[in-house]
Amino acid sequence: MKDYMVKATANDGQIRAVAVVTTELVEEARESHDTFPTASAALGRALTGTLLLGSTLKGADTLTLRILGDGPLGGIITQVGSDSLVRGYVQEPHTHLPATPQGKLDVGGAVGKGFLYLTKELGIGEPYTGSVPLVSGEIAQDITEYLATSEQIPSVCALGVLVDTDNSIKAAGGFLIQVMPGAEEDTIKAIEDQLATVKPISQMVAEGLKPEEVLQEILGKSKIKILDKREVGFKCTCSRERLEKVLISLGREELRAMIEEHGQAELCCHFCNKFYEFSGEDINNLLAEIEKDDNSAD
Ligand code: ZN
Repeated sequence: MKDYMVKATANDGQIRAVAVVTTELVEEARESHDTFPTASAALGRALTGTLLLGSTLKGADTLTLRILGDGPLGGIITQVGSDSLVRGYVQEPHTHLPATPQGKLDVGGAVGKGFLYLTKELGIGEPYTGSVPLVSGEIAQDITEYLATSEQIPSVCALGVLVDTDNSIKAAGGFLIQVMPGAEEDTIKAIEDQLATVKPISQMVAEGLKPEEVLQEILGKSKIKILDKREVGFKCTCSRERLEKVLISLGREELRAMIEEHGQAELCCHFCNKFYEFSGEDINNLLAEIEKDDNSAD
């Protein structure tokens, strides 16, 4: 079954809920970046959280999450568009720490202290960035804090990644429950009580629960209205054409120096770790393009 996300409301719109299963896409990210277990969990949680946060994007909107801590993992950068295709990386993919006393992967220790930044580029307006200090570095808690302080929406975010004994991803997923203005106290209380009893999200996914069923566990069967169901995936927006533009933007001098010094250029996309090679001839062609543009501008 492909990974997918479900958007719903509950209790006549008092609650907004999103749940997603991301096992396949987190495994794909792990393979692309060769992450070690603690790093896989951190990147997987961030990718899953980004999908949940980006579930309301439209058109050309993008959302970028940056978790910049002082731990051994370095920064985590993830990005999603309105197509629910997510990409991202961690600065030190070969990070693995001893488990916590509870036997969990120590994501908080790997991230360390620092800040969470969330940037939204909506349509043609200026990008907006909000930030909060990291609460624990465990990512779900940090996102909950961001939504409560920066966007003033009481929310509960849960993210989970279960890494198998062979280091592959066994299960991954998450949910985001948000209380809309005017929600009744009873509704909030009932959800809080229910959340205290549900299993961790990674366990629910490992047991085969689908996103709809995860929401039913939390909100109860009868009160949910499913609004949208869509596939999600790990996919980058990089391309050879896009990187040609990056090279052209460096300018003539820089490109000539590149050919003289290295005879070629190698560019790597951070988000997906894909390598692009440009031969001396390729770069010369780009130079010719620049000259042509310069001449036609005269
Ligand atoms: Zn890429």
